[in-house]
Amino acid sequence: MSNLKERILKDGQVFPNNVLKVDSFLNHQIDPTVVKEIATEIHKHFADRGITKVFTIEASGIAPAILVAAAFEVPMLFAKKSVPSTMHGADKYVTKVHSYTKDITSDVIISQQYLNEDDVVLIIDDFLANGEASIGLIDLVKQAGAKVAGVGICIEKTFQPGRQRLEEAGAEVYSICRIASLEDGQVTFAEGN
Ligand code: 5GP
Repeated sequence: MSNLKERILKDGQVFPNNVLKVDSFLNHQIDPTVVKEIATEIHKHFADRGITKVFTIEASGIAPAILVAAAFEVPMLFAKKSVPSTMHGADKYVTKVHSYTKDITSDVIISQQYLNEDDVVLIIDDFLANGEASIGLIDLVKQAGAKVAGVGICIEKTFQPGRQRLEEAGAEVYSICRIASLEDGQVTFAEGN
């Protein structure tokens, strides 16, 4: 069993609305051993795709994305949920993303400077639920005229429609750990990646 699955069983907590809390090793305090293993596996899967950039959304995607980017030896870019003063006046790509855990829709932004039509982009996120975050990131990649190589996910909830929506949008999804159910506070894993 992977470190990630072991830690989910040991330290994951099931919250209402099918939310799995993993703050002790992935979302707040971060265990680099777990995240490094995730990054190594995602790198292995997408190794021959000519990836030029790893792309995520702040904040929880950043830790896995930076280690994946280090494995590919390419830059990591993260979409921002608010515009800092240093970005005022810069040309930006903007899309809307609905947050699963916060239940709010907000603009997410990148500077046009960091993504262009020569880029082959690997999208990374901590969780895949309804696919909103990844679909927003795909939209930003498309606005830049770049290519999506695929989506790498740490924890996918297979009982929610994220994978289907991403595949319908033409993106390959590869998940390190797949959860089939969180019913009655129990984590049940699904097979495959
Ligand atoms: P989606 O955009 O696929 O609907 O949801 C994925 C995003 O919502 C992730 O970036 C993650 O931050 C958050 N999320 C979705 N489900 C969960 C969950 O069960 N636990 C935690 N901690 N975050 C989640």
